[in-house]
Amino acid sequence: KRLSIGILFGGRSSEHEASLASAASVLKHLKQDRFDLVPIGITQTGQWVTQTTPYELQHRDCESQALNQPEQLQHTTIVDMAPHYASVMPHPLSSVTPKIDVIFPLLHGTYGEDGKLQGLLEMLGIPYVGCGVLGGAISMDKEKTKQILQATGLPVVDYKSYRRAELERNPERILDAIEDHFDYPCFVKPANGGSSIGVSKVRSREELRQAAFLAASYDQKILVEKAINCREVECAVLGNEDLLASVVGEVLIRDECDFYDYHAKYIEPSTKVIPAEIPDDLALEVQQQSIKAFRALELSSLARFDFFLEKETKNIYLNEVNTLPSFTEDCMYPKLCEASGLAYPDLLERLIELAVESYEDRQ
Ligand code: ATP
Ligand code: MG
Ligand code: MG
Ligand code: MG
Repeated sequence: KRLSIGILFGGRSSEHEASLASAASVLKHLKQDRFDLVPIGITQTGQWVTQTTPYELQHRDCESQALNQPEQLQHTTIVDMAPHYASVMPHPLSSVTPKIDVIFPLLHGTYGEDGKLQGLLEMLGIPYVGCGVLGGAISMDKEKTKQILQATGLPVVDYKSYRRAELERNPERILDAIEDHFDYPCFVKPANGGSSIGVSKVRSREELRQAAFLAASYDQKILVEKAINCREVECAVLGNEDLLASVVGEVLIRDECDFYDYHAKYIEPSTKVIPAEIPDDLALEVQQQSIKAFRALELSSLARFDFFLEKETKNIYLNEVNTLPSFTEDCMYPKLCEASGLAYPDLLERLIELAVESYEDRQ
């Protein structure tokens, strides 16, 4: 049976652009002899737009910057939308099609990766790719994630969280508290974020002040973390009940980059080494911790686990989890799956199977 797949992209988060690139890749590679593709865009202000492509959505939003693969983006297929059907309760998807079998949300960050969209889809009874409400909500929040990882006995970097409101009320007191606890350099980031947007490495009180307000402009809560001098390794997990942990990959951060920032992710993408050149026992440890975290965080479908491998001590820390990781064919999650034997189009098909399976399990 041909399934009709709703591809959601864009969205209200700071990772709107990254989402367009992910969706373009998926639209290009989802097997069109097996699936009907229904692209659905969400603008930066949250409007749902049907009969659009990631490329068109980008050019509709004048604030967006140029993507680097416009050609690829133009080649997405648009399926004719069936006539609107009357719905008892109008909702954003009711105007799309009489029937979408599965939603594939290629939305990164808030309103896509954080359980909110998943809640909407649960209410509507539509199967979707990715984890559910609880897993998404916890994993989006870096403080809640760390609390659960700690309770599970998984090592995390020393961190503290601060609220925007307290920072605004008494910045000097918060900066004092941070300086009492952390040495420079340290990292400052929004508690809910992604693609390194709003993340800073700071070396002085003045930088700390700027970074704290920057992070607080993206979220009501910010995290400060000890800076680890590290290599960065990542592991992909795929499955609902029977889990596959991929081979481990490493991101090589160029010397001129301060850390794995937005530029190193999307503008001049860093080299990925797959499998990572680390000892077998360490790779196994990364895979085992990823599986453990996947369970502890109530995840399903897919997640990418980002680790720090401390250079001096060889300690590993689970930095964070991405439940809808960036997803172009060149991104880490698909590359790790490919290296583990699952090519990109097959991965996409597998994710749709898992979405249906997980939906049926919940009934
Ligand atoms: P993603 O795009 O992977 O979702 P993100 O925006 O959720 O990223 P993090 O992964 O927490 O944010 O941080 C982005 C990058 O900043 C890391 O990959 C790393 O290069 C650097 N970084 C963050 N925290 C630390 C830390 N405590 N020590 C060293 N480097 C760090
Ligand atoms: Mg992240
Ligand atoms: Mg992310
Ligand atoms: Mg990360």
